[in-house]
Amino acid sequence: MKQIAIDGPAGAGKSTIAKRVAEKLQFVYIDTGAMYRTLALACIINHVDIADEIRVSETAEAADLDIRYIDGVQHMFLGDEEVSGRIRTEEVSKAASDTSKYQRVRTRLVALQQELAEKYNVVMDGRDIGTVVLPGADLKIFMTASADVRAERRFKEYTGKGILCSLEEIKKDIASRDYNDSHRANSPLKKAEDAFELDTSFMDIEEVTDRILELYGKC
Ligand code: C5P
Repeated sequence: MKQIAIDGPAGAGKSTIAKRVAEKLQFVYIDTGAMYRTLALACIINHVDIADEIRVSETAEAADLDIRYIDGVQHMFLGDEEVSGRIRTEEVSKAASDTSKYQRVRTRLVALQQELAEKYNVVMDGRDIGTVVLPGADLKIFMTASADVRAERRFKEYTGKGILCSLEEIKKDIASRDYNDSHRANSPLKKAEDAFELDTSFMDIEEVTDRILELYGKC
């Protein structure tokens, strides 16, 4: 099976680009952030103290997580409830960043991600795909953009969806999530040695997509 790994900090444009690349290549796009978000939501729903590693781990292991791919789009379920919309709040973003540092949470999801990559040709995005989940991926991209550009993109995305937010708050949230994700002991966000670094600050979606397809064509 073919594998393209895309890692990078929040708001670098990973999911938009990964979706496009997957469409062009007829691969399945796997959004691993949505999986961490769903387990974080399970903790919130069950009123679990996010600082309690044991309870978070037990909740994550017991959660009735289901992922369905419908017309190439990933849908997240907790039991019978589709939660694809509910996981896109700031509360869940923050909880996901806090709970994803626990090893048992990661172990459950990494196994699932590796199973999916055995079944399908995938474009998978996240923080540890090139380093931990798919170390043998055919192509690894480490996607970055300046903190200001990333915050502005997130701001536009939210306001476009009618979500009220402040640019300053988004900047703070992105900075604190990046810090958390890069400084944790388990699978921190970092560039794999053999990943191509792509700074998308001054590139548009088409340019980034084409660059990745070009790199893929070359490997
Ligand atoms: O990518 P997204 O912003 O949806 O991810 C939410 C959170 O999930 C990240 O801030 C990060 O803490 C965690 N995550 C992770 N490893 C991944 C994907 C996401 O730790 N592969």
